[in-house]
Amino acid sequence: MAIDRFGRNIHYLRISLTDRCNLRCIYCMPEDMTFRPNAELMQDDEIITLTRLFASLGINKIRLTGGEPTIRANVVDIVRGIAETEGIKSVSMTTNGLLLSRLAQPLADAGLERVNISIDTLDPDKFKRITRWGKVNEVIDGIKAAEAAGLTPVKLNAVVVTGYNEGDVVDLAELTVKNPWQVRFIEMMPFAGATEIQLTQMVTAAQIQEQIEAAHGPLEVVNGGKLDGEARLFRFKNGLGDIGFIASVTMPFCASCTRARLTSDGVLRMCLLREKEVDLLTPLRAGASLEELRKLILETIWEKPWGHGLEDGVIPLNRVMSEIGG
Ligand code: SAM
Ligand code: SF4
Repeated sequence: MAIDRFGRNIHYLRISLTDRCNLRCIYCMPEDMTFRPNAELMQDDEIITLTRLFASLGINKIRLTGGEPTIRANVVDIVRGIAETEGIKSVSMTTNGLLLSRLAQPLADAGLERVNISIDTLDPDKFKRITRWGKVNEVIDGIKAAEAAGLTPVKLNAVVVTGYNEGDVVDLAELTVKNPWQVRFIEMMPFAGATEIQLTQMVTAAQIQEQIEAAHGPLEVVNGGKLDGEARLFRFKNGLGDIGFIASVTMPFCASCTRARLTSDGVLRMCLLREKEVDLLTPLRAGASLEELRKLILETIWEKPWGHGLEDGVIPLNRVMSEIGG
């Protein structure tokens, strides 16, 4: 078991497969983003070696992310390798869904359990504006493909930005009336790259909930208000799905955070919103023994920051979101 100094059992690892993406969402990265050369990224065998190490320390839940994980070459084989690793109980993925029409079934066959798909609006023009060129219909096809492949329950992630999609939250929430999906609204967080938008155009979870309740009346609380991962869940009376609010900025869930992140260049980051990182790939390539790496990982986990510092104005600036892995 890997425990930090505050007693949190760290058992959930998000692995970024690439910092590249086939979109450029305005809240995630600048349009002229430069990406790392492939040689700097973890190679397939290095991902599997590190996954085995983490699994031997008690990590049992993996989420693949990026950048856009589905554009990584050999993504299906990587999923299979991780799913077959002893000790790993679940493998899921966060994706923009564009390539799921083709990949959902092979990924499910390789052992992927579930997907979270990002969709910030159902309006084709607004979607294009937020993502800089995306086609929302391709995401909708991806959601259908994920359901057909059994990558369920499908969760949909939406970041709400003033001036872009703040008027679309009711339409998104209404998807849960007839679909057994979880539509989750994520508060926009500040990182490098798009900091100005993030600081001035953030919409709070409370404002989003207010809009939905103004249209539909009070939402029903799910699970007695207990957090589901990082989301507080609600539902419409008679709705098939749930509506989640991830209030990372206004109501942080740091006390119950059990996760770590491995960036695509093989760096262990214990808090999304803190700059502190420990490089694992360089020592792995330099021939460090598995025992030495295990010790390094355990020490880094032990030092996991208590929580983020947004309230005190501390913003992580060493990486944009897509370089960390959301
Ligand atoms: N490309 C995939 C996708 O979009 O789902 C996976 C990577 S993306 C960085 C993971 C999640 O982070 C997405 O749901 C995205 O909306 C969210 N995200 C990106 N930038 C964010 C920000 N500044 N604040 C909050 N969430 C953000
Ligand atoms: Fe790409 Fe996901 Fe970032 Fe959008 S949020 S630019 S889809 S990594």
